[in-house]
Amino acid sequence: MADIQKTKAIVLKKLDYGDTSKIATLYSDNFGKISCIVKGARSPKSKIGKIIDPLNHVEVVFYKKENRDVQLLSQANLVSNFTNIKEDLDKLKYATAVVELINSIFQEEYKNELIYKGTVKILELIDSGEDQPILYFTKYFLFFLKEIGYEIQTSNCSRCSKDIEEFDLSFNFETGIICEECSHETINSVKLSTELFKIILCLSQRNKSITYTNKDLNSILFLLEKYLTYHIPEFSGLKSLHMF
Ligand SMILES: [Zn+2]
Repeated sequence: MADIQKTKAIVLKKLDYGDTSKIATLYSDNFGKISCIVKGARSPKSKIGKIIDPLNHVEVVFYKKENRDVQLLSQANLVSNFTNIKEDLDKLKYATAVVELINSIFQEEYKNELIYKGTVKILELIDSGEDQPILYFTKYFLFFLKEIGYEIQTSNCSRCSKDIEEFDLSFNFETGIICEECSHETINSVKLSTELFKIILCLSQRNKSITYTNKDLNSILFLLEKYLTYHIPEFSGLKSLHMF
């Protein structure tokens, strides 16, 4: 027996399946990450095939069978297709990085409502917010790390727990921000400038007045990617950040 289920979701990716169908990976509100077959979706006339497109926010109906890897999708309605994102290469780059992050880190059926809500929110902001897409994405990356249990600590050394000042800090790829003494005792660390530390602090505290350059944010993203690679060996970095 299959249960008919309805949920909102973000489309992470879709692949051709057979001659006529597609398999879509969704990150859903109620069921976490799921894969669905969309029959007939390869036909140019398929309305549902157009709705189920990466980055779209959708509402779907599907037949859920336990112990089945791929569910059967029967209906889809568009909630938003983020038109600004699709017309701007820079917005597209960071929105794609958001879905790539979820898709590469989460196992099937991994559910986290806060991450679902945060993901919808960040895509809306990348689509129509006033700040640069890279700033939204860096904030999202820090939020994501916190939610999966790898928060970047900003008040204490992540190795010896001593209170930290803004100066003489380093970033350790295994533990995060560390004090000067610890930096002499570890490998896999790089110096963390006061400017970069202050930006990480502002972003983690959701401080609105923040001074940054894109170079600073790129440096922070590099550190976060390395850090995540250290904790999740299957994660090999975000291709979308490097291919645009
Ligand atoms: Zn320390």
